[in-house]
Amino acid sequence: MTLEQARETEDSISHGRFQRSLLGWFDRHKRDLPWRRDRDPYRVWLSEIMLQQTRVAAVTNHYERFLQRFPSVERLAAAREASVLAAWSGLGYYRRARMLHAAAKKIVKEHGGKFPGSVEGLRALPGIGRYTAAAIASIAFGQLVAVVDGNVERVLQRVHGKKIAGEALWRAAGELLSQLRPGDFNQAVMELGATLCLPRQPRCLLCPVSDLCATRGELQGQIEARSQIKRHIHYTLACRNGSIFLVQRSKTVALMPGMWELPEASVNETAEEWLTVRHSITVTDYVVRVLRGTAPRYLNGRWVRKSRVTALPLTGLARKILRAAKII
Ligand code: SF4
Repeated sequence: MTLEQARETEDSISHGRFQRSLLGWFDRHKRDLPWRRDRDPYRVWLSEIMLQQTRVAAVTNHYERFLQRFPSVERLAAAREASVLAAWSGLGYYRRARMLHAAAKKIVKEHGGKFPGSVEGLRALPGIGRYTAAAIASIAFGQLVAVVDGNVERVLQRVHGKKIAGEALWRAAGELLSQLRPGDFNQAVMELGATLCLPRQPRCLLCPVSDLCATRGELQGQIEARSQIKRHIHYTLACRNGSIFLVQRSKTVALMPGMWELPEASVNETAEEWLTVRHSITVTDYVVRVLRGTAPRYLNGRWVRKSRVTALPLTGLARKILRAAKII
């Protein structure tokens, strides 16, 4: 046996050990999440889109409700956009909901309601990029394709003990992928990153692959503290005869077009403060002061009965404020 062959054998043995240890741990310890209960591509797709930039806990609350409202891709495709956005309300990044709706229409119109099973076919759908296509193809269709997201990146870099980026990262993920259970393996790596191989203070003592990990801790220089920006903003909460005053964002703005929110207030020292909430969007931490007030004369504002408020597509912040004020 040449040195090269010996190295390849050693690699495949350690890959095999890595896969067995990780999958064994995943089978015993994976979180019981509603989208893991079957491999229906519609459900896998929905959960993957919801999970983009949204915490698992928030998605868990919305996922079942969304499915009750739109139990199949056909029902989603046939829905009005306003209903889809209303059901999405609270998950943020409404562009994802619009893309989801557009993709559902395309699946029904061009594929007879059946999801394409290949990465290429999935990537041709609106809102499905490389990661999402790989996740659906491996989890729902058992395709041999690895995923790379932030969790996978961190785990792989620590396991290999070096910075890996770009195509090399996708290659490294592909080399490690289990040929027998690619969908479970992909989920297991992400689960490891989400629950044990945490960005700070990884829990290496509990890690199923610690004996195969080059780092067993944080990779030197891996964590760069993100400096959060602090901002103060003010909103008016006006109530009258069981209704509240809401305004609709312009349909032409890039961010959350057509969504409903509270009117912004100018800083008014005399206005009574109702409550304060904190809200973070990417690198900005907002301190949001909500003031009691009267309805400003916005052309696109209207009084909405409290019982009807949740039927509107609300911005995430509006929903948070109205919950804090116990209006919804
Ligand atoms: S041993 Fe620690 S650093 Fe390595 S993969 Fe496990 S949790 Fe991550």
